[in-house]
Amino acid sequence: MRLILLGPPGCGKGTQSQRLTEKYGIVQLSTGDMLRAAVKAETPVGLKARDIMARGELVPDEVVVSIVAERIEQPDAKNGFILDGFPRTVPQAQALDQMLKDKGIALDAAIQLKVDEGILHQRIAKRVADMQARGETIRPDDNPEALEKRVHAYRVQTAPLVSYYSDHGLLRAVDGMAPIADVSIAIDRILGKVADPVAAKGH
Ligand code: ADP
Repeated sequence: MRLILLGPPGCGKGTQSQRLTEKYGIVQLSTGDMLRAAVKAETPVGLKARDIMARGELVPDEVVVSIVAERIEQPDAKNGFILDGFPRTVPQAQALDQMLKDKGIALDAAIQLKVDEGILHQRIAKRVADMQARGETIRPDDNPEALEKRVHAYRVQTAPLVSYYSDHGLLRAVDGMAPIADVSIAIDRILGKVADPVAAKGH
């Protein structure tokens, strides 16, 4: 299974991706995580991306496209993958289409997590508080100013992908405002992987 999760920062892409990896045995490819690892390791990509990310802006398309192209070639991505945070622009989506076409594979769905923008600030604030409580390092872009820019980048650069995938017949929308477990059920339904309710109750 090859999926894309689409939605603004804080919409729950990471949470749902994590669960999908466990349930379906496919890998989560998060460009945010890959870039953060590159920043930490101070690779050339990391050095290029660090300040851009901290400001809440998007890293250039060619940088992320090459990271993803390399990553989906790895053996663990053979079974399938969930792209979390990629594509984020129309040129990235076009590059992905080309990459998959070259490999003779296709996407199964682009799942859009729909949320009200107003809730994003609360969710990020909660994420920061939770990470602080666990003694973890706070992301440099989890602050009100950078979050504003990330939401803006989503609106301007990423939201057009909703029409892009709708035009390609791949878009499936779920209500990302629902509780985590309900969002998961909605996604499973879309994927046609939900057991029938009677069987699921153990009858
Ligand atoms: P979130 O969805 O919470 O904003 P991510 O972890 O997906 O966070 O991404 C963090 C940052 O990494 C983004 O704000 C951006 O700077 C960079 N980034 C991640 N994925 C991409 C991408 N596909 N294209 C450009 N920049 C990206």
